[in-house]
Amino acid sequence: MGIIYIWETTHSTEPKSGWRRKRARRRRMSMAMKTVCVTGASGYIASWIVKFLLQRGYIVKATVRYPDDPKKTKHLLSLEGAKERLHLFKADLLEEGSFDSVVAGCEGVFHTASPFYHNVTDPQAELIDPAVKGTLNVLGSCAKTPSVQKVVVTSSIAAVAYNGKPRTPEVVVDETWWSAADFCKEMKKWYVLSKTLAEDAAWKFVKEKGINMVTINPAMVIGPLLQPTLNTSSAAILNLINGAETYSNASYGWINVKDVANAHILALENPSANGRYCMIERVAHYSEVVKKLHKLYPTLRLPEKCADDKPFVPTYQVSKEKAKNLGVVFTPLEESLKETVESLKEKGFFVPSAAL
Ligand code: NAP
Repeated sequence: MGIIYIWETTHSTEPKSGWRRKRARRRRMSMAMKTVCVTGASGYIASWIVKFLLQRGYIVKATVRYPDDPKKTKHLLSLEGAKERLHLFKADLLEEGSFDSVVAGCEGVFHTASPFYHNVTDPQAELIDPAVKGTLNVLGSCAKTPSVQKVVVTSSIAAVAYNGKPRTPEVVVDETWWSAADFCKEMKKWYVLSKTLAEDAAWKFVKEKGINMVTINPAMVIGPLLQPTLNTSSAAILNLINGAETYSNASYGWINVKDVANAHILALENPSANGRYCMIERVAHYSEVVKKLHKLYPTLRLPEKCADDKPFVPTYQVSKEKAKNLGVVFTPLEESLKETVESLKEKGFFVPSAAL
């Protein structure tokens, strides 16, 4: 296999000015890695990571839980470049050593697999064990594999911003913030706890083993779906447009899935990438999201009332500095919402009225 040439994707995250773009491209070319692994490839974010990696010429070893289920694999196998350079492997986060043969020979590893849903009956078994033990399982395989130069872990803003510190419009959350496990337990935020414990365990492990790791910490990820199944964050938008009477009294950070996938690849390719990267275009209350949807689709039936009578949960800011320095260009929330609605329509999750 010769040198891998990297070309522009349609949705470039490169800095705009000419010399910066050239420097960024040179840097990426010199970091071009031949073979990489993506865990949880069937998923919403990982599918976009796989797509962009194939576009950039990588050989991708992708793990899925159910290789015989076309709903988990067909959209990956039909990606451009998949026939030549995508290899699927069966692996489960909770199976010790499951990732050894996948990581073998890889120079970069993207660890994205982790359960993301809210209705759980046994948080330890359903969320915390796969997140924490799964991350250590994947990192354990990396530690045994000399070819691995860098690991990019998909963490979350869940591991950053949940610690009981006030979050108000003047507060700026950044990568120095850490969520507090006790606070998450007290609030019974089990998914948030799973991501907090997983990232914490990961940093301790890589420090001990000398592994080069970067984490990407996105908030609510929206934008087009590649997979045919509905994921949790896309469901948040579907719920609004599919006849809900009320919207939640909550303020979340929002970010486009293509920007998140690109950030992962930039983190791998850029030798100076380090630590954590918060990925949020904007924090917005659900009421603002509904307003934006109304502006985009004036005939769409949208919830008019908040689910409770309490004051709106305040918004806050999240620093974009570090991500921008990595080369990320953020897609505006309005565009991400439009892409999400159009994709939900195209996938058949949402049947709009004729007027839309
Ligand atoms: P998703 O579509 O549900 O993807 C989750 C992936 O994890 C799926 O491929 C799933 O496999 C895999 N997985 C779950 N349990 C597993 C196990 N025991 N063994 C192997 N694989 C397992 O969700 P997503 O939104 O893309 O999330 C991907 C990552 O991004 C997660 O780490 C999540 O915490 C993080 N994240 C997501 C958001 C967001 O808003 N979407 C925000 C911040 C961080 P199956 O397909 O077989 O179920």
